[in-house]
Amino acid sequence: MAGVLTTCPYCGCGCNMELQVAGGRVVGTSPVGGHPVAQGSLCVKGWNAHEFVHSPDRLTGPLLRRDGRLAPVSWEEAMDFAAGGLKRIAAEHGPDALAFFSSAKCTNEENFLMMKLARAAFRTNNVDHCARLCHASSVVGLAETFGSGAMTNSIEELAQADCIFVIGSNTTEQHPQVAARILESVRRGGALIVADPRSIRLTRFAKVHLRHRPGSDVALVNSMMHVILAEKLENREFISARTENFEALARTVRAYPPRRGEAISGVPADLIAQAARTYARAKAAAIVYSMGITQHVTGVDNVRSLANLAMLTGNVGRPSTGVNPLRGQNNVQGACDVGALANVYSGYQSVTDPAARQKFARAWGTDELPGQVGLTVVEAINAAADGRVKAMYIMGENPMMSDPDIRKAEKGLRSLELLIVQDIFLTETARLADVVLAGASFAEKDGTFTNTERRVQRVRKAIEPVGQARADWEILCDFARRVGCEQMSYAGPEDVFNELAELTPSYHGMSYARLEPWGLLWPCPEPGHPGTPYLHQGTFARGKGHFSPAEHRPPDEIPDEHYDLILTTGRIYFHWHTGSMTRRTNPLNRESPEAFVEISPEDAAARGIRPGGRARVSTRRGAIELTARVTEDVAPGVLFIPFHFHEAAANLLTNPALDPEAKIPEYKACAARVEACP
Ligand code: SF4
Repeated sequence: MAGVLTTCPYCGCGCNMELQVAGGRVVGTSPVGGHPVAQGSLCVKGWNAHEFVHSPDRLTGPLLRRDGRLAPVSWEEAMDFAAGGLKRIAAEHGPDALAFFSSAKCTNEENFLMMKLARAAFRTNNVDHCARLCHASSVVGLAETFGSGAMTNSIEELAQADCIFVIGSNTTEQHPQVAARILESVRRGGALIVADPRSIRLTRFAKVHLRHRPGSDVALVNSMMHVILAEKLENREFISARTENFEALARTVRAYPPRRGEAISGVPADLIAQAARTYARAKAAAIVYSMGITQHVTGVDNVRSLANLAMLTGNVGRPSTGVNPLRGQNNVQGACDVGALANVYSGYQSVTDPAARQKFARAWGTDELPGQVGLTVVEAINAAADGRVKAMYIMGENPMMSDPDIRKAEKGLRSLELLIVQDIFLTETARLADVVLAGASFAEKDGTFTNTERRVQRVRKAIEPVGQARADWEILCDFARRVGCEQMSYAGPEDVFNELAELTPSYHGMSYARLEPWGLLWPCPEPGHPGTPYLHQGTFARGKGHFSPAEHRPPDEIPDEHYDLILTTGRIYFHWHTGSMTRRTNPLNRESPEAFVEISPEDAAARGIRPGGRARVSTRRGAIELTARVTEDVAPGVLFIPFHFHEAAANLLTNPALDPEAKIPEYKACAARVEACP
């Protein structure tokens, strides 16, 4: 049996693992010692990461819709149909009638090729991916305050922090290796502050649990900053040497005494003050957050507030400090880095910057590239529904599960003249496609993923693609050739990576050879550079750190007489994202086989809902029925539903209202009602 070293396909921790191969099949997974994040261990998803690879549900060849049904065809026929269709629609309606969805599950090389296909072959910036749905607010908020939208510090450093403030992240369930470092800090005597509307596992170890109402983050953090200023706990030296716009922040937070924070967030004023003192007095305090912060109509303001808090106390630019957004999927950081976003090329070089356009046009041998920002994921779906977008090429994304208000997404997808889906399973989205292209899983191709701490590391091919499936990078290059784009011919993924590194300042010093053994953390600007574990040392990426005060704004929907509760959604330990892989993994499915809603004992009793009974949850967009878990983990007035289960899809209920700046939907708070099923 041979072992092949590679990177886990699930969460943004990016653990390395060994795939055990026998007889051309992946038969097991084992941890590897020495990896700085995994440290010789894997979580339950990692241990079982090989299971879905040989699932009988895998797509083993392309499919084409004939007489209303998807039927197997040759690659030649499928590719001719797909490429010919996109070319025709672009010629008839213009390039912006097309939209491309890239994938946080695919490699950096594949995401780079997808954005190159959209921009160089079809001349549209309508290319985006699900980062828009999870951390677009981090990209905007941290770019404005610090100049860079990624985790400021490495995962390893968390173990040495004196205080960690976890807000909007169920870390033990979603980023188990990050949680392990947080617990290491606690074991060493570090103070843990958890802000979460639910009681999560980390709250058991917390010095302070701030159980705030969904959608009250800005008020809560502003009140903490009020206390810090009132008690003169701010870091004056850091503020005057390294930041600007402090007076504006001070003016704003003056209006948020803890009593006001309590009125808005529901957290007692003395707990807010205790959290503020604990954080401000620590020598090295780190903030860790995730989608509980970002997925709001105030997502960017939430991120700004956390950046303000870190700067106010001088907790940026040093080891074991910083503001650390935990990216969800295995390669969502990388897909952003390499430009699978509607507004930027790789390295966050803006499509509206003529110099950047010229640079990429020259490198790609094209005359000119489009200069108008493209449509984001949700905007593209809306544009499909109203006829502006007529064709979509979706690689490795499942908007029929992941988009808010799924019925709206379905209307958009069904309105298209042509839908091309490239995936490893016939997902809920692939079922609507006109043509389905069978891609390869992480075990069947080479490339790189970039984890949440900016670590770029290798993915290695362990087996040949199953059946007639093909590596996604190969499909994209073949597609480009068929639409007449000659600039997408490569010897292999390494060749693509070299082009990416050449064009991307933060990856410029990287090569496959240099990524041995455990990758490099960007920025790595030149060959020989060791990579950068923590950012903003001495100076911020934008020069001075910019305080960006934010005012509290309520969620788009607040409870009323018809929908009297707040629904929040998220993930659980045993499943991943839209469930396309974990729900085809027996040990994980056995542990968590069915959809559920968490409801407080008070709310359940008031509605006659029994533990384990069926409940019907409704919002203004639809209703689903699922099992009730009656638990004190959620506060009265709040419901929680995980979004992995297609048979009771939480996103049939969620609100598609967008943050005006980041265009991220408000998954984390909407008005809902629940009743016992008859
Ligand atoms: Fe994979 Fe994340 Fe688990 Fe590590 S912590 S094994 S990267 S799912």
